[in-house]
Amino acid sequence: MRLSRYFLPVLKEDPKEAQIVSHRLMLRAGMIKQQAAGIYSWLPLGYKVLKRIERIVHEEQGRAGHIPLLMPTLQPADLWRESGRYDDYGEEMLRVRDRHKRDLLYGPTNEEMITDIFRSHVNSYKDLPLTLYHVQWKFRDEIRPRFGVMRGREFLMKDGYNFDLTRDAALHAYNRHLVSYLRTYERMGLQAIPMRADGGPIGGDYTHEFLVLADTGESEVFYDSQITDLTFGDRQIDYDSVEQCQAVLEEFTSRYARTDETHDEAVFAQVPEERRRTARGIEVGQIFYFGTKYSEAMGATVVGPDGARVPVEMGSHGIGVSRLLGAIIEASHDDRGIIWPEGVTPFHVGIVNLKQGDNSTDSACDAIYAELQARGMDPLYDDRDDRAGAKFATMDLIGLPWRITVGPRGLAANKVELTSRRTGETEEMSPKDAIARLEQIYAPVLGLTVQDK
Ligand code: ATP
Ligand code: MG
Repeated sequence: MRLSRYFLPVLKEDPKEAQIVSHRLMLRAGMIKQQAAGIYSWLPLGYKVLKRIERIVHEEQGRAGHIPLLMPTLQPADLWRESGRYDDYGEEMLRVRDRHKRDLLYGPTNEEMITDIFRSHVNSYKDLPLTLYHVQWKFRDEIRPRFGVMRGREFLMKDGYNFDLTRDAALHAYNRHLVSYLRTYERMGLQAIPMRADGGPIGGDYTHEFLVLADTGESEVFYDSQITDLTFGDRQIDYDSVEQCQAVLEEFTSRYARTDETHDEAVFAQVPEERRRTARGIEVGQIFYFGTKYSEAMGATVVGPDGARVPVEMGSHGIGVSRLLGAIIEASHDDRGIIWPEGVTPFHVGIVNLKQGDNSTDSACDAIYAELQARGMDPLYDDRDDRAGAKFATMDLIGLPWRITVGPRGLAANKVELTSRRTGETEEMSPKDAIARLEQIYAPVLGLTVQDK
């Protein structure tokens, strides 16, 4: 993309309404615009990152064998009357009435609807196991929407639902989700720690939340510092293997890590004092096993191996897709702006032309731009006639992890500068070498994208 043709409405001043850094930077970098309390337009740069995150979510769900579909945002109230949640959900549910006076609601989650789909089409245990998921907008009329996309009213969520014959099979699905979530967050450059949590309105007592540690997080968390040494890395896992998934769950949940809802001082006291940590965290996902809570209420049964009908065992699993943008920025920024991890950056590299209008720099930038694109990378070329300082400030603000700077003096010696946004380190090299280096850096990221189904 050429910046002169893009739509990047960056703000010079800090917006007053933003209380936390991610909200401030998203507004300043022209990523979002608030339309009503907790309701945002996603401007091109924000939309791009949102799509990158969504894509990682899809790829990792696909890898785990989970199947995407798409349910609507509006749901009939009658489904929720069956589960009893139409009344229970309270004021957080946005209720709507259509012209025929039928009650609808803007879905805050989809347990009822997916259970309805299941009962309409699945009849036999032979069709299990089954995990269906979608990435769809949700609405929760939060009492205090704040912190930008972090606590919105309309927000994008991945929510998945497993259907299994037995409790053991459903617990395997739970473990499989835990593994796939660990991979998902790591690909976004995040450490998200599974912590024992509380079921809330979804129900069930077998549940973990995934928390990104950040001072601005809304949850108070208590953990054994050893847990922050764990990484999933690039280990290969067979998602069908009960043992392998169970082993990962045990590895990542055996140390003390809980949110304030389940925190137990007596158990925490058994962690050696020097490893006890109290901090704040951002909830970026949650997994639940709740057994037959919805299937019994809504008559979702299958014919079992012995011919008798049994209610299906279920769980649900959510990732806060839009909240993740805020969480990533909270975890990765500096005084000058955002620092995107390579896995989610909106553009892979920024190109800054120090002397726009100069034949040699213009044609060098054009060539670099074309070559990067030819190799599957997505560059942002600042081709505007502006001061170098202003161009650098914009690149730093929007947080592209790499920048190629092209000036007439360097170019005379066939040199450009390659700068890391994270470390600030700059290296001089030929345009060819800079492109090769970037290709190497992005190979893992682009390789994964290529495999996308
Ligand atoms: P919270 O405790 O933050 O209100 P929740 O536990 O009610 O969230 P879940 O039902 O577990 O939310 O939803 C799955 C994920 O969706 C959460 O882990 C979170 O990342 C995200 N999410 C929930 N509410 C919001 C919101 N108002 N704005 C943005 N993301 C949200
Ligand atoms: Mg939750």
